[in-house]
Amino acid sequence: TTTKSVVTIGEVLVEIMADTRGDGFREPLSLRGPFPSGAPAIFIDQVARLGQKAGLISCVGNDDFGWLNIERLRADGVDTSAIRVHPDQVTGSAFVRYRESGERDFVFNIKNSACGQTRITEEGQLLLAQCAHLHIMGSSLFSFRLIDEAKKAIEQVKAQGGTISFDPNVRKEMLNIPEMRAALEMMLQYCDLFMPSGPELMLLTEATTEEHAITEILGLGVSGIVVKRGSEGASWHDGTQNLFVPAFKVAEIDPTGAGDCFGATFVTCRLQGRSIADSLRYANASGALAVGQRGPMEGTSDFVALDALIAGDAA
Ligand code: ATP
Ligand code: MG
Repeated sequence: TTTKSVVTIGEVLVEIMADTRGDGFREPLSLRGPFPSGAPAIFIDQVARLGQKAGLISCVGNDDFGWLNIERLRADGVDTSAIRVHPDQVTGSAFVRYRESGERDFVFNIKNSACGQTRITEEGQLLLAQCAHLHIMGSSLFSFRLIDEAKKAIEQVKAQGGTISFDPNVRKEMLNIPEMRAALEMMLQYCDLFMPSGPELMLLTEATTEEHAITEILGLGVSGIVVKRGSEGASWHDGTQNLFVPAFKVAEIDPTGAGDCFGATFVTCRLQGRSIADSLRYANASGALAVGQRGPMEGTSDFVALDALIAGDAA
């Protein structure tokens, strides 16, 4: 089963985070970074750490921020051959600062960075030709070019009989990109597995209650929905079954990346033939270990670490 390859397409960034909590960046701050980041990059790194074949289609600049990412992904087992190194663009970045409430403010440089030049190269075609499952992050649908490339990838993988998952992963800073909302709605038509965080469940529906939103989304042809519920856990909905699995009790140090690790672990466990309940348990463990580490990609886990957390919880 580990030969089934998972592919994702989208942004590779560095993340630079403020050391102190507060509002935004309108004063000089002490910062920490660069950390390898970008939701699709975190996702695919977590897939590879579970021993599944994994590849990423993206674009970085020929600079330290780009190579930092490529080297980390490669070391963790991700096929980086389809990450284009652009000769005269700069790698994307995100500055993040946590508010006292736990909310985050971002300053993104994505659309006008190397990320914006992402396209499916020959190497990308080779990855897609072997792809059993494609994952799309809503945060990657930030321009017509990226939306177009994502669509091409989806169509190819579907034509081969592969499956598609979609995590809206929207940030308030991105919702004013006009083409993005239509692309997010389009993804609901395309995906087999939908993985929103709690409030995102109703972001793209007419329905205003969870129950009705689930019915509406399943009515579009989506076969399963996983709702990520932060420190509460996660639930599965497929029209016949509603299954809730509680989170692990851990200290939250940095929530960034939890959703990406959770999603990657759920998808990988399902591809490896595990049940919905087992896959949710592993995904919760993966999210819990992610929030325990500072830095977006620093909290990815292998099965040894996930099994240890699960065993400790059962004891
Ligand atoms: P992201 O900020 O990465 O986009 P998200 O909103 O997509 O995150 P969350 O619901 O915050 O996703 O987290 C994903 C999963 O990680 C949760 O379903 C849960 O299993 C786990 N998790 C998140 N926060 C905690 C926590 N404080 N304690 C334990 N587990 C957590
Ligand atoms: Mg998310």
